Amino acid sequence: MSVRLAHGIGDPPRDAEMPAVVALGANLGDRAETLRAAVNALRALPLTTAVRVSKPLETVAVTVHGEDADAPRYLNAVALVSTRLAPRALLRELHRIEADHGRVRRERWGDRTLDLDLIAYADERIDDEDLTVPHPRAHEREFVLAPWLDVDPDAEIPGRGRVEDLLRELRGGAR
Ligand code: ATP
Ligand code: MG
Ligand code: MG
Repeated sequence: MSVRLAHGIGDPPRDAEMPAVVALGANLGDRAETLRAAVNALRALPLTTAVRVSKPLETVAVTVHGEDADAPRYLNAVALVSTRLAPRALLRELHRIEADHGRVRRERWGDRTLDLDLIAYADERIDDEDLTVPHPRAHEREFVLAPWLDVDPDAEIPGRGRVEDLLRELRGGAR
């Protein structure tokens, strides 16, 4: 089978490696072990090299009702990957890794063993039913911006600005 078929017609691998940003979050089970295993799974992805990972950050759960101090806390991290997988092929792999770690989707923003979101893919903008890039809520989430800045001090969200500035604004600091 050709590589093109393996990764889906219309979603062929890119000719060159592209920088992609993946946010990891877990608030059920052995969170640290799950994040470690998920990073190893990212490292094992086809057509993918150079996975760099932030320090883990423990954060309070955000549900549809806002921050919930009674819910199990999250461990979050951000991974920078260099990949020839196209965005949708990468998202499919992220969903597979989530499923491998027992991810179940019940209510929106409910507790989960593992969430893997595609935050950015080079400077590309995608607005489809199944995939929005940059991730439409990344710029307002400290649990994404803080670990992202940790692993890439020069990070920018295409169309939004520098992660350092976005994080400062979010924390209520002056520009
Ligand atoms: P949020 O997206 O607000 O962080 P969530 O991660 O809990 O919420 P999921 O249940 O993991 O949401 O995903 C819901 C759907 O979002 C998925 O089916 C997926 O196709 C879609 N989606 C759209 N854009 C993205 C993206 N950039 N990264 C991950 N999933 C995305
Ligand atoms: Mg998410
Ligand atoms: Mg998700």
